Amino acid sequence: MATRYIDRNGKQGLVEAPQLRAPLSPAPGSPTEDLLIERGLVGVRFGTREALSRRREHLFYAAVKQGGAMAAIAYIILFPTGWVEWTGFALFYVLNILGMSIAYHRYFTHKSFETSTPMRYALGALAQMGVYGSLKRWVADHRRHHALSDKPGDIHSPYYDGHGRALDGRKGLKHSHLGWAYDDCMTDMDVYGKGVVGDPVIEWSHKTRYLWFAVSLLLLPALWGYAIGGAGAVIGTVMVAGFLRMALALHAIAAVNSFGHRYGYKRFEGQGEARNNWFIALISLGEGWHNNHHAHPRSAFTRVGRFEVDMTGWVIVAMEKLGLIWNVKRPQFESRPQKR
Ligand SMILES: [Zn+2]
Ligand SMILES: [Zn+2]
Repeated sequence: MATRYIDRNGKQGLVEAPQLRAPLSPAPGSPTEDLLIERGLVGVRFGTREALSRRREHLFYAAVKQGGAMAAIAYIILFPTGWVEWTGFALFYVLNILGMSIAYHRYFTHKSFETSTPMRYALGALAQMGVYGSLKRWVADHRRHHALSDKPGDIHSPYYDGHGRALDGRKGLKHSHLGWAYDDCMTDMDVYGKGVVGDPVIEWSHKTRYLWFAVSLLLLPALWGYAIGGAGAVIGTVMVAGFLRMALALHAIAAVNSFGHRYGYKRFEGQGEARNNWFIALISLGEGWHNNHHAHPRSAFTRVGRFEVDMTGWVIVAMEKLGLIWNVKRPQFESRPQKR
């Protein structure tokens, strides 16, 4: 049986299934290198309209968030800020990260627990308030990341670009951090989007994502500032707990994909270059135990070692105790790849 692929020049072709099952370890210059790269690029579409619209969307986010964060830093230097602004920063930073860790990642992508329909909508809105692009695309993109971790075809590896060309050094970090959102390589939803396309909650989240962006960036921080500090605290709180918080939360999670695939230790082998990194784990509330996660992708928790604290996991346990979620998947360490 032959499988269709589109190569990096946009040319379509067929690859025989037995060849597709060949081990993925491209040695540069080897006679099988091209085949291995093309195998990785099955499920990637090049130069589509969607790629252009994703690029525009992320440029918009970057301009608002990075530009806003710079303005926020100037504001902090020029005007006094206090506990109203910074409690707002802490609160919305945690909610922002949880939107990414619980909603985008552990629930919608990895289905590490089950929940009710109203909770699914709440998690969909929370995900989009994290502002890491469309939930629908994110789930499919992240499936591709796990399927091809640090091999050609991985959407955001520090070792390959979107066309399967080797990367290293700062170029690799830049691509894996956020650069991938600006290239012309889109995840093929026909390959990675099963159960995502047509899911009413995911489709609703995708369509309403700019609303949740505005709620997260402006409305909630403004309400917090007004409720706690009065009208005079609104601008400062939007600056600190809106713009600055959102930019920092985005980089904290993006760091899992960039630095988290290069720096840190491997508890489990055979997981690409995914690493456990305590600093990234701290700022991403547990997502930085990324080697553990790659070894146990279905698990609702990333903690394996005693000191690998997973704060997102605490929230999941609390939600389970409150009866908001159930069938929480816990890791089966024994049946997984060998510990070092
Ligand atoms: Zn990863
Ligand atoms: Zn994952």
